[in-house]
Amino acid sequence: MEFDVEKIRKDFPALSERTNGGNTLIYFDNAASAQKPLSVLEAVSNFYRHDYSNIHRSAHDLSMRATAAYENARKKVLGFFSAPPGFEAVFTRGTTESLNLIAQSWAQSNLRRGDEILLTEMEHHANIVPWQIAAQKTGAKISVAKILPDGSLNIEDFKEKLSGKTKIVSIAHASNVLGTVNPVKLLSGLAHSAGALVSIDAAQSSPHMLDNLSDIGADFYSVSSHKCFGPTGCGALIARRDLLDAMPPYQCGGDMIENVSWEGTTFRKSPERFEAGTPNIAGAIGFAAALDYLKNLDAAAAGKHEKNLLIRLSDGISSIGGTRIYGNAQGKLPIVSFNLSGAHPNDISALLNAGGIAIRTGHHCAEPLMETLGIRGTCRASLAFYNTKEEVDIFVEKLAHAAKILA
Ligand code: PLP
Repeated sequence: MEFDVEKIRKDFPALSERTNGGNTLIYFDNAASAQKPLSVLEAVSNFYRHDYSNIHRSAHDLSMRATAAYENARKKVLGFFSAPPGFEAVFTRGTTESLNLIAQSWAQSNLRRGDEILLTEMEHHANIVPWQIAAQKTGAKISVAKILPDGSLNIEDFKEKLSGKTKIVSIAHASNVLGTVNPVKLLSGLAHSAGALVSIDAAQSSPHMLDNLSDIGADFYSVSSHKCFGPTGCGALIARRDLLDAMPPYQCGGDMIENVSWEGTTFRKSPERFEAGTPNIAGAIGFAAALDYLKNLDAAAAGKHEKNLLIRLSDGISSIGGTRIYGNAQGKLPIVSFNLSGAHPNDISALLNAGGIAIRTGHHCAEPLMETLGIRGTCRASLAFYNTKEEVDIFVEKLAHAAKILA
């Protein structure tokens, strides 16, 4: 069936926004954060209008309604990502907090001198820096699997770096710069055979509906609501319950304790153990609404539409003299990082912005990857299923114009 993108676009009010000089917005910054459908806006608004209260605390009707909605959101997160039995979803602020939770709670209580943490060259800072701190505190060492010239992971190097010393492998399912989709099922199997746990940073893969946790078979998964068309300030760590229950609390306060006395405190099991204080209740409800929205999409048709857009966009950029694209691995996400010889990415972005086009420039929170690529930054155009081929054509035309100005 044909993917009806015009119908889909009506669900996203921000896509009709006018920007600089009255241009209709062309939003190609989806890898940074995605726009929100009406159903998400309504779910959040309805919660605040009708059911709002704190959760898990009071016996009054509103609190029970709010608690039910929050816990229902948790079930939806587990269901959407096909979490296997024995997995739990902890609500966090997003992927960054989920990864920090693993690196602070699990790593700092399980790693010892001589242990290794295996990452890859394409990781986001959120999947590097928390591990650096865990390594400093425990004496463990970080090793890094290399990438190949097309931006895919060097699997042979990954295998070489994996050993009996590796206690955890933490990898992006997809790169936010190169668009590379890593073979996480394969990598997870290899890591488990070596006796290591596996953490998947699903920040970029989740909005493209690539995460089936039962199939991938890892131990920890980190996702962000705002990249999946939900509200900001919310996300989840989906993880094996036995691991979570054996991990020490990460933050302490209300709602995560069993008993507190001056003699000491006992803690609840997961997920509450890791949700100290009043959580982002509306965020969780909006996140669930976003996942419902995605569930109702034809994922195969949306994926095909995105692939067609990616080809059109990559071909268009390549047709402009002096451009270079970083990352062209098979099956990559619709994320195109590029540079134009002699031009600063910020100047390109400024010219595109004047024409209503939103892209991102800079190191994309992946400075070690920039070092590998031998550059300081790129322009990045990142697409979602609601983008159109007409938008891609306007983008290419305006980029060609910018290239002439900056030549
Ligand atoms: N990991 C990857 C691959 C990302 O692209 C991002 C955000 O861009 C993050 C982690 C951090 O996500 P958040 O800022 O939602 O916590």
